[in-house]
Amino acid sequence: MLTLERFSFGVGDRFAHQAKSQLRAFQMIAADGIDVVPVWNKSNREHTFIGSEPQSVFDAGKRAVQELGWTKGWHVDADHIRLETVDRFMPCSDFFTIDVADSIGKPAAEADVQAFVGRHPELVGTISLPGVSAPFTTTRSDVERVTAKYLLAVQDAGKIYRHIITAKGEGNVIAEVSMDETDAPQTPVELLIILAALADEKIRLQTIAPKFTGRFNKGVDYVGDLVQFEKEFNDDLAVIAHAIQQYGLPANLKLSVHSGSDKFSIYPIIRKALQRTGAGLHVKTAGTTWLEELIGLAEAGGDGLTLAREIYAYALDHVDELCAPYASVIDIDRSKLPSAETVNSWSGPKLASALRHIPSHPDFNAHVRQLLHVSFKIAAKAGTRYTDLLKANEEIVAKQVTENIYNRHMVPLFIG
Ligand SMILES: [Zn+2]
Repeated sequence: MLTLERFSFGVGDRFAHQAKSQLRAFQMIAADGIDVVPVWNKSNREHTFIGSEPQSVFDAGKRAVQELGWTKGWHVDADHIRLETVDRFMPCSDFFTIDVADSIGKPAAEADVQAFVGRHPELVGTISLPGVSAPFTTTRSDVERVTAKYLLAVQDAGKIYRHIITAKGEGNVIAEVSMDETDAPQTPVELLIILAALADEKIRLQTIAPKFTGRFNKGVDYVGDLVQFEKEFNDDLAVIAHAIQQYGLPANLKLSVHSGSDKFSIYPIIRKALQRTGAGLHVKTAGTTWLEELIGLAEAGGDGLTLAREIYAYALDHVDELCAPYASVIDIDRSKLPSAETVNSWSGPKLASALRHIPSHPDFNAHVRQLLHVSFKIAAKAGTRYTDLLKANEEIVAKQVTENIYNRHMVPLFIG
């Protein structure tokens, strides 16, 4: 069976030019004695925006693996797929993020809900799990309510999973079930019920992406109650360890943290939990490599800086349409966005510092960063003008990409 390694890190490469500079970060953490494997992920939505094909993600990953002589695992994630979007990912993906968030809250058949609750008397009453902060107490009607909320999503996941394994073979895929793109976080006891239902559907999931408490905005730090997050994360780990035993789920089943880039304030909490429990982790990051490209072009000066400034000016003019699809995952204070004239007067290093995620830096501007995070379509529109500049400035861009993943993400997550 294709088994996902203990630590895996999802990287996105919107324009397919940074696989090598991303992979270098994995080599650096391996040299520190910690094995983390890369998972190149790109969603259907991203492919549509950029005009790329899923095969290009596999090809770019494979080329980087060969050029750098990487001998450990690597994977290609069909990110946030559903039944109607999965087929084009089939030939070139071995990791499938099955997104059923849209089905949460939609009613499942009442008979199915009752059958599930009838099959699982162990979910009713007081459940004390080792490592959980306080025992869960549930009534039958609590379990019915949670089941009614999630069962259709779980059944949808089963349909998509069976579609995938019919095409690929059960032992040849890593399945993740994601429920993060929804309004309300899932509590640890809800996670337990969901895992029991996923096991009943015979989904051999190796990672699960719940929605955690707090805000996971794109490209910026976590916003929320750190004490609550720590309690929930630790409880989720205990729930997963229990569900593996109780329901026969794959022994390597682990949590997946989506929108996991830049969540600096929770990395120490996650690291301590992993070190304490020996649990694994998948962290998914996507769009921030594109920001590092922009930082590199700004640093490079000349035509690179000119294009970076133009992209900002265009983004500022189209802020409504660019932000609309991401309204729930960005928090931009428009009064903090400098005018295009102001940005045009900045030096390359100053624009780079406004974007680079070093919160303590006096020039850092989280609003500019978030706006440009969602503005990659402008670079896609610039076409070869953009990608030729990436090639011409490969070294300085690569340095940003590698340092961002290694210094600001991997070290705090896995080393401290
Ligand atoms: Zn997600």
